[in-house]
Amino acid sequence: YSIREEPNMPDILQMVKDKDPGQREFHQAVMEVMASIKPVMDRNPEYRAARILERLVEPERVILFRVPWVDDQGQVQVNRGFRIEMNSAIGPYKGGLRFHPSVNLGILKFLAFEQVFKNALTTLPMGGGKGGSDFDPKGKSDLEVMRFCQSFMAELFRHIGPDTDVPAGDIGVGAREIGYLFGMYKRLRNEFTGVLTGKSLNWGGSLIRPEATGYGSVYFAAEMLATRDETLEGKTCLVSGSGNVAQYTMEKLLDLGARPVTFSDSSGYIFDEAGIDRERLAHIMNLKNLRRGRVKEYVEKYPAAVYTESDPGQEFNPLWNHKADCAFPSATQNEINAVDAQHLVDNGVYVVSEGANMPTVPEGIDLFIENRLLYGPGKAANAGGVSVSGLEMTQNSMRLSWTREEVDNRLQMIMKSIHRTCLDAAEQYGTPGNYMNGANIAGFVKVVDAMIDQGVV
Ligand code: GLU
Repeated sequence: YSIREEPNMPDILQMVKDKDPGQREFHQAVMEVMASIKPVMDRNPEYRAARILERLVEPERVILFRVPWVDDQGQVQVNRGFRIEMNSAIGPYKGGLRFHPSVNLGILKFLAFEQVFKNALTTLPMGGGKGGSDFDPKGKSDLEVMRFCQSFMAELFRHIGPDTDVPAGDIGVGAREIGYLFGMYKRLRNEFTGVLTGKSLNWGGSLIRPEATGYGSVYFAAEMLATRDETLEGKTCLVSGSGNVAQYTMEKLLDLGARPVTFSDSSGYIFDEAGIDRERLAHIMNLKNLRRGRVKEYVEKYPAAVYTESDPGQEFNPLWNHKADCAFPSATQNEINAVDAQHLVDNGVYVVSEGANMPTVPEGIDLFIENRLLYGPGKAANAGGVSVSGLEMTQNSMRLSWTREEVDNRLQMIMKSIHRTCLDAAEQYGTPGNYMNGANIAGFVKVVDAMIDQGVV
């Protein structure tokens, strides 16, 4: 079942393309969902009558604002800030903020659209949203980041709230940024609430939140392997990225006896044939989190490892061209192109669990599905992050904190439930074992039924 096949709903895709011709990533995300849900639309004529697809692809609200700030040289800088409030049918808008120079309306609409379905799969009451800025935190001083975050929140605060819209982190937004954003929100509102997730532990954060996306993606891979009576023990794993998702993916892989051998940043990647053990991982975390360094510095300490610089014109990413069993793309969208996907298949990789959002191009997904890989799409496999954000909201509402064990158990239960839900929906709609279709269908049905219950709003 190909996602490039005519979805028989060309009207919607065409409508989206005509309305916003430049938003390529958004079109890609819409196309994938539309192809999966065709059988659901055929079985439920009331969805069509309620113009549900037209409503789903239109954000409930888009906020676009100027973010002026002063850099360390005393120069005024101007960035653009966004928040897409995509869908609130099943709960307050929920989703991260991304600070990266590539951020624009189309990228954030794709992320917000994915978030709606992902959040629906988590079992928790969260709608979907996404936001961010084209601000580049790379190379900025702490004070510059703080001034930027304060200016960003000086506008955003009027649009969010613990029962309205609850942002969190994403690429370029970690504990430091969430701290500065929270401080400014609290000052402007004079309220201490759970308006952001990913907070530090001693002021309302949840244990396991930093680990959650990476751990969740590994739990999801373990569930997929269990359907073939296998475990992660002894498996060689390709991991991309070196941020919070990649780091905790590697940590959980080590806990489960697997052998991660790669990680990367935007400049290049490391291949460590010896395997990244706990000592090496601690070194990576120290390098990235404390020193905000680059992955190429790893070879100074471990000279047997190989660093390969990325080449802007490269046809494929050599990180995906190593013999392995599993791949955990944990960097960014479209990081696995069709050639990379073919390399993975040729190298014997048979498990792909997406820690990033939409890391595989449609032709790559087709290849995985045709070759019967265990392919866990991002909106299912990386849902652990937003799930623990949901648990952070629960703890904030109750004004108490759960133990590490309690949160981790809940995370494992949620990932198991997402896995089961995907398999059941895929089976029910005639594509057994197709997690992409399962995730899209199950997320879609939950959100759409809520929209129908709530009338035309
Ligand atoms: N940015 C993460 C995601 O893509 C987490 C969002 C959140 O915790 O709200 O799901």
